Amino acid sequence: MQKATRQQTKEHNSRLVYKSIYDGAEISRADIARSTGLTKTTVSSIVVDLMGEGLVEESGYGTSDGGKPPILLRAVDEARHYMGLDLAGSIFRGATLNLRGEIKKRAHKPVENSDGETALSVVYELIDQLLTDSEVPVRGIGVGAPGLINPVQGVVRRSVNLDWRDLHLRELLEDRYNLPCYIANDCQAAALGEYTFGENNQTTDLAVVKVGRGIGSGIVMNGALFFGQGYGAGEIGHLVVVDGDEICACGNRGCLETMASTQAIIKQAKEIALNDPKSYLNQIAASPEVITIIDVLEAFRAGDPNMQKIIIEAGRHLGAGMASLVSVLNVRHIVIAGSIARFGETLLEAIKGELVNRSMSIMAEDTEVYISSLGQDIVIKGAASLVLANEMHLV
Ligand SMILES: [Zn+2]
Repeated sequence: MQKATRQQTKEHNSRLVYKSIYDGAEISRADIARSTGLTKTTVSSIVVDLMGEGLVEESGYGTSDGGKPPILLRAVDEARHYMGLDLAGSIFRGATLNLRGEIKKRAHKPVENSDGETALSVVYELIDQLLTDSEVPVRGIGVGAPGLINPVQGVVRRSVNLDWRDLHLRELLEDRYNLPCYIANDCQAAALGEYTFGENNQTTDLAVVKVGRGIGSGIVMNGALFFGQGYGAGEIGHLVVVDGDEICACGNRGCLETMASTQAIIKQAKEIALNDPKSYLNQIAASPEVITIIDVLEAFRAGDPNMQKIIIEAGRHLGAGMASLVSVLNVRHIVIAGSIARFGETLLEAIKGELVNRSMSIMAEDTEVYISSLGQDIVIKGAASLVLANEMHLV
């Protein structure tokens, strides 16, 4: 093994010290030395550098254990701002965030009916606006994009909805903005966002299942995103969960995506509205053709038994897909994200029930399924986490 150079050792030590200040809320130099195993002299010299970079500040005095009270240090949350973009929906959304993942400025641009070069120009418009609006210089851009992404090369290999093929997105953005840029699949970014800023951020392993127009999952194992050798790990949307049912865009039949995506739910709701003129949906939507997931949600919340049935059915199919994740990965935290999360407890109960039916009981008992607390911002926060992980080594 090659010996670390002095520069590498210095950088490594600096990261250790910064991370212990960032994680510790308020901490003294002596406590940092204790927790990192570095000498007090090394810690003090690194702290000088970190304060010089504006990343750390002195916040007051701690309690004395007899001698002089120690000076406490804390991280400056606003020292750096990063950008996170979510390109998975029909509206491109983005935000700038501070070092705690708190959103500072937001922007969005509709992208419906545009693809290829036009969609790319919408990405530029979104970034331009966020850069203009940000009051603190932005130090990096993270992107969560739909489709198969090579995060190492920063290339969108295939994104069907956006009609992007082998698009060197990272290179394009880095050349244009002269900022470090990182790209991942939207579900994989969501998983990193949940791992970094979600409610159970002590766990080292989790899977986020994101259900919207499509279905996919992202997997964090041992504290890092698991991409798979072809970077497509977690593509559960095309697991076959029903025999010989509806044909999917991928050519198979009975894929999870054809049974439980919001598109699948809307399709079933439209059929109900067409067949039953008295259905609740016909009271809230102008015609069955224009029914949206928001209409379905409204009918569901009003107690429409047909909508309850559709959601329970979708939940069962999702539970079947998740049973595969649990069996293969033995992951104990499965987090639901995407627009389907708004169906709450009814959906969760259906998912859990099916998970128990289809898994070894001891593994199912150990598995917690819950809805992400990050809501609609999960991909934005995850995309920003990609930058935090690579630039600040905080993830
Ligand atoms: Zn399919």
